[in-house]
Amino acid sequence: PINCEPLKELIRTVPDFPKPGILFYDITTLLKDKNGFAQLIDAFAQYYIGKEVDLVLGIEARGFIFGPALAYRLNAGFVPVRKPKKLPAPVARVNYDLEYGTDALEIHLDAIKPGQRVIVVDDLLATGGTMQATVQLVRQLGGEIAGLGFAIELDFLKGRSKLQEYDVFSLLHYD
Ligand code: IMP
Repeated sequence: PINCEPLKELIRTVPDFPKPGILFYDITTLLKDKNGFAQLIDAFAQYYIGKEVDLVLGIEARGFIFGPALAYRLNAGFVPVRKPKKLPAPVARVNYDLEYGTDALEIHLDAIKPGQRVIVVDDLLATGGTMQATVQLVRQLGGEIAGLGFAIELDFLKGRSKLQEYDVFSLLHYD
């Protein structure tokens, strides 16, 4: 297996973004590095190749950056999960709680056929609320979750505990 630990050197941490007290993990510095980006996709591909995957779903916005590259490698389709009112055709919608207030995500109703096997990717797993909401959308459309993939997992927030029924795979862990 690919050793991803060196990729940590390519991730920029920004204190107090977007709010005071938050340490933001910025993957743009990894993405612009050609070897780093290739290793990121290769490491995901290595984990998922050989598993049956019909679709890769990416969560807006950073799931859109590497989800399609992974879909291409897995010979799967790509489906965007978007913030409200961006998708043009009929949608399913899920509301979910944030630390302050609520947010929502949408998916086209015809994006997944019942029984299709789906992996969902995002850049970072924090509390798990965003991924939990996305999982609800997939199930509502009758999709099967083949896996949930993250570039980064913040272990201390225990987001994984909200996703226990599923195969959660993260390339990099921070405590
Ligand atoms: P959760 O719903 O609490 O797991 O938060 C995960 C969502 O917030 C993902 O869509 C991430 O892109 C975003 N997020 C939270 N913290 C960070 C960070 O430090 N860097 C990048 N994205 C973050």
